[in-house]
Amino acid sequence: MNGKILIVEDEKKLAALLSDYLKQNGFEACCLGNGLDAVPWVRDHAPSLVLLDLMLPGRDGIEVCKEVRLFSTVPIIMVTARIEEVDRLLGLELGADDYICKPFSPREVVARVKNVLRRVGSEQTIQADGSLTLDESRYRATLSGHDLDLTAVEFKLLQFLAAKPGRIYNRQQLMDQIYRDQRTVSDRTIDSHIKKLRKKINAGDPGVELIHSVYGVGYKYGFLTRTGAKSDATPMVTK
Ligand code: CA
Repeated sequence: MNGKILIVEDEKKLAALLSDYLKQNGFEACCLGNGLDAVPWVRDHAPSLVLLDLMLPGRDGIEVCKEVRLFSTVPIIMVTARIEEVDRLLGLELGADDYICKPFSPREVVARVKNVLRRVGSEQTIQADGSLTLDESRYRATLSGHDLDLTAVEFKLLQFLAAKPGRIYNRQQLMDQIYRDQRTVSDRTIDSHIKKLRKKINAGDPGVELIHSVYGVGYKYGFLTRTGAKSDATPMVTK
């Protein structure tokens, strides 16, 4: 069994087709046709991945995605009927892992599902020692005991940078990491996320700096106290 996939889709034929393809590929698939049922189902059944249609009766995919993100990091692939919607969805920073536009081939959907699961499975959970802790299951980062109250995007950025202290990433690399479909995301988007992230880090502990600009290149992670002394609190990376 490859995992349990929840399909939230009100077009019954489409849901059945996806379900068949997923089952043929060794997945367990469950279908829900109403947005209202999705959040309780995810809570009760802890699926491996959610295929979430945007337009749903009861509750739309955006609301469902937002609420699921409050308690779960389950991979979510948003499905939308219009390609223009994707730009708007990206702007909303829902914390979805991928987007698929209708019409699609079921084969493509299965490939994307596998791809997202592979990617998520290979991601590491960072348990930083010292004063920074990253809790991936709740998208929660605490610094010196203070919850930094990060958005999903900010959390992903910090987690990604902190996984390789000292390694410099350019903006494109960071965007690739945060947005899977970055046609409309500009360099400034990353700068603005970093700015907000730093502000929150500073609010959590004004004596610590974590994200450093590398002029003309990009950003890197390093645990530094304001006095400039390098702390020995290097994040520990565990599976
Ligand atoms: Ca629909």
